[in-house]
Amino acid sequence: MLEYVLFLIREDQMEDDMRSSMIRTQSEIGKIFIAQGTLVIASLRAFRNRFAESISPGEVDLIFSAAERETAERFEGALKDAHEKGVLKGAQRRANNFKATVASGKVDMAFNLVNQRADKYATKVAAAKVTAINESTRKTLNEMITRGFREGVSHTAMERAIRNRFHEFQAGKPQKHIKSRAHLVTVTEYRDAYEEGHHQMAQEMMHEGFIVEKYWQTSEDDVVSDGCAENQDYGWIKEDDLFPSGNQHSPRFPGCRCNTLHRIREA
Ligand SMILES: [Zn+2]
Repeated sequence: MLEYVLFLIREDQMEDDMRSSMIRTQSEIGKIFIAQGTLVIASLRAFRNRFAESISPGEVDLIFSAAERETAERFEGALKDAHEKGVLKGAQRRANNFKATVASGKVDMAFNLVNQRADKYATKVAAAKVTAINESTRKTLNEMITRGFREGVSHTAMERAIRNRFHEFQAGKPQKHIKSRAHLVTVTEYRDAYEEGHHQMAQEMMHEGFIVEKYWQTSEDDVVSDGCAENQDYGWIKEDDLFPSGNQHSPRFPGCRCNTLHRIREA
């Protein structure tokens, strides 16, 4: 029986593969956040005359709805681009790894299949990701606006707070060395796509008749989450199985530092 050959990825490897795309995506997402903030402030003006009155949660939701709608196409475009590039680069990286071990013709065939589906995959996943990101923004706004109304802050102060918040989404807090939400979203989405590319490539190799296994590698320090540690403890598993957390591959959450390792051998 042939030995497995093990392949790693590292954060810096991913960034090398995609640095310029990631910079463009982060800039675009930052601009989208700023555009959303401007639209939210415009919607909020409708409530100017009744600012001291109570406002229903449904009305607060409406304040963000216009921003969500008007930025949807642009946001989905940015994330589709990120996921398509990430999947292809991740698949390419694994294809190169696999070629060190197995016949390159089979690897090329597998990569072509991933490549053909990347556009469709990215379109589907982008819509879901935009929904999740907007959901988190809506929650933040709900809290800000509801608290503002309760505490009776002025309309002007509320506008300023909202403008500042969306600016932070774009730029972070440089003086406090806090990275922006645009940065976190970009890194999370590219990592997810890149590892998805590894997974899709590994799955195609299984369809080509190889045995491919994966392993959840944490950074093995004392801030690793319980869920990630449990995934690592599970050991090597077949590529099409799920880790105990229910994930097909890392990252498990924004900021998760884990990697999925692979090994392949002839059946
Ligand atoms: Zn993790």
